[in-house]
Amino acid sequence: MSTAAALDDEQLRARFVELKPALAAQAARIEADRCLNCFDAPCTAACPTHIDVPGFIKRIASKNLRGSALRILDANILGASCARVCPVDVLCEGACVMNRQNRKPIQIALLQRHAMDFFWSSGETMPAAAPGAHKVRVACIGGGPASLACAAELCRRGARATVIDRRDLPGGLNTYGVAEYKLRASDSVREVEMIRRLGVEFRCGVEVDSADSLEALEAGFDFIFLGLGLGAMQRLNIPGEESEGVMNALELIAAYKTGHLRQLHGTVAVVGAGNTAIDAANAARRLGAETVYMVYRRSEAEMSAFDFEYEHAKQEGVQFLWHRKPVAIGRDEPGRLLLETVQVRETNGKLEVVPGTESAIACDLVVPAIGQSPLTQLLQDLRGVEIRDGKIVADRGTGRTGNPKYYAGGDCVNGGREVVDAVAGGKRAAMAILKTAEATHA
Ligand code: SF4
Repeated sequence: MSTAAALDDEQLRARFVELKPALAAQAARIEADRCLNCFDAPCTAACPTHIDVPGFIKRIASKNLRGSALRILDANILGASCARVCPVDVLCEGACVMNRQNRKPIQIALLQRHAMDFFWSSGETMPAAAPGAHKVRVACIGGGPASLACAAELCRRGARATVIDRRDLPGGLNTYGVAEYKLRASDSVREVEMIRRLGVEFRCGVEVDSADSLEALEAGFDFIFLGLGLGAMQRLNIPGEESEGVMNALELIAAYKTGHLRQLHGTVAVVGAGNTAIDAANAARRLGAETVYMVYRRSEAEMSAFDFEYEHAKQEGVQFLWHRKPVAIGRDEPGRLLLETVQVRETNGKLEVVPGTESAIACDLVVPAIGQSPLTQLLQDLRGVEIRDGKIVADRGTGRTGNPKYYAGGDCVNGGREVVDAVAGGKRAAMAILKTAEATHA
């Protein structure tokens, strides 16, 4: 790892300054005035949480920023973070009617952020429901967006919810796993504080990892919501993977977001070509690595990262090595890491090694980033909850699992999608839990 001088807090903040600058008040009003206030609002239909987009934009145009923010929060309690991390090109902004007229779509994300930034900076809070309107008690396992949305919705409607998370801070990937130039950990934590003020209880640093711990929760709560997210990054399963200097993408992102990793140097090789791989590669560049390669066994056309993420990585100076498959991690004479690769080609849908194409990349850090594994261990302990392909089987509309006490949402159900999908899943489950509780007088 790096021997260069570590960056201090101010330098780190400067390196990871937010990607898109905020709109100034006048620019926001001008942009809001462009919105056609469409009756059928395809932007709202494209949002998994169905934020009333024309409704909140109209309030910005009329300088009612508080009303605008409350409109957003009503549909999406994580409206502030979603304004920063949503892939709006393929969601609301991609659906904006302006595209059909060959005009620039309304900058919905920046307007949403404008309203939410006002809400935070003016110290506004959300109106809370009278506690006890519902007697139901719900444990939400996992502290990420799905659980936060579920717990917030429950408390807003007068029920009691407890979020249980193994980490020190809640927020899940919003706090630990999103690139800092998109969403600062401090902003994620601030959003969680707002949810806490709604009455949600948080138990952090608590692991729910066995049948016994689940049984204890079953005894103490009427329902359990599983917002477990996904497990650890998948292993490359190649020799040398345990070497010092190998750190997976989520570890790297969490390390710099928490101030534990403050400088890199030399060459970094990121293995994979998804959005998290790109976040890690860009972070490596900003932390000081002179050369960053992304090594991917397939082609540019097959990478899973969004186009805008790919473009961003190229702008950051990340270099892409296509059709390269890592086969081992060794060391050269001076002791640097050697990521040994071979070229592969696709024949009849299968990747095969091209003979005589062995080559090695001398580097200072290797970052596996080939996706996360399911949380199989805990899932095996869930009686009556069906697991298919490592994912929890739950009703799409309600999040209800095969065990009537358990509901689920977010990545552990959908296999890993956007924050906004997790929010929608958590919210749907909360509504279904309340409906069931009312029907059974829980
Ligand atoms: Fe406004 Fe575009 Fe939504 Fe129409 S589709 S309401 S123009 S943001």
